[in-house]
Amino acid sequence: MSDTLVVNEIYLSLQGESTFAGLPCVFVRLTGCNLRCSYCDTAYAFTEGKKMALADVRTEVGRLAKPFQDRPLALTPGFSPGTARRERAPDVSAASQVGHTAEVVASGAAAGPGLKPGVNEIALPLVELTGGEPLLQPNAPPLMKHLCDDGFTVLVETSGALDISKVDPRVRRIMDLKCPGSGEVERNRWENLAHLKATDEIKFVIGTVEDYAWAKQQIATHKLDLVCPLLMSWVHPLRPEQQDKALKRVPAGQTPISRLELVERIIADALPVRFQAQLHKIIWSPEQRGV
Ligand code: SF4
Repeated sequence: MSDTLVVNEIYLSLQGESTFAGLPCVFVRLTGCNLRCSYCDTAYAFTEGKKMALADVRTEVGRLAKPFQDRPLALTPGFSPGTARRERAPDVSAASQVGHTAEVVASGAAAGPGLKPGVNEIALPLVELTGGEPLLQPNAPPLMKHLCDDGFTVLVETSGALDISKVDPRVRRIMDLKCPGSGEVERNRWENLAHLKATDEIKFVIGTVEDYAWAKQQIATHKLDLVCPLLMSWVHPLRPEQQDKALKRVPAGQTPISRLELVERIIADALPVRFQAQLHKIIWSPEQRGV
């Protein structure tokens, strides 16, 4: 296996979703995806990209992170995003140690040269692998391991259609459960649920009333609120220039849901989820790249 990845872009911006929303983050967007979700706003990452050596990716991440050196973020004592959850009965071997491992990273014990956050601190910026689908590339897990070794808090955004168990346990996995409106609901890899831990996050991207009902049902059926933080992200309608012809269609008969209606339903149903507004799309133009 060559020591390379196909990279679409690497840039410093703001984490727009997840429990880390609002924090500075270096994004490593990898090329390629095996899904074609109806609402995908990064179709340009399906094919555009250039081959980069892992070492060069790390160097570029380090260059973008340099201004933040020795400026860790203080956390509320005893709190680390994603860990203040009730843990379900441990059902996976590696995962039972993972919460501990994540805390070790947060306390700086595993930090590499230059990144040494103290107790109840995390290093900034975060580093997130995204796509496309980052787990499609065999060298993505080794890169994440290296970045963890370098002392970064590493996140990965994954569609939930591929095996997440090979990812370094220090990495925060933000895993989609694809709702019916995506056109890709059959691609959910349900075996992944057994590998999730308290420091991971499950994201539902909600575009229709049917998506909301489906997500609510999955939360109840699988007791997902006992697993990890749950995110509900409202679908920003695509601009015409973002509507790649290869994308799936929203299945016929589904009813679009507004942002307001989604929030009102979450509150009325007392759902234990975090609503997401995709900060980057509010701050910058929705079709802008590199933010
Ligand atoms: S998984 Fe993500 S990148 Fe792939 S098609 Fe769906 S939204 Fe786009």
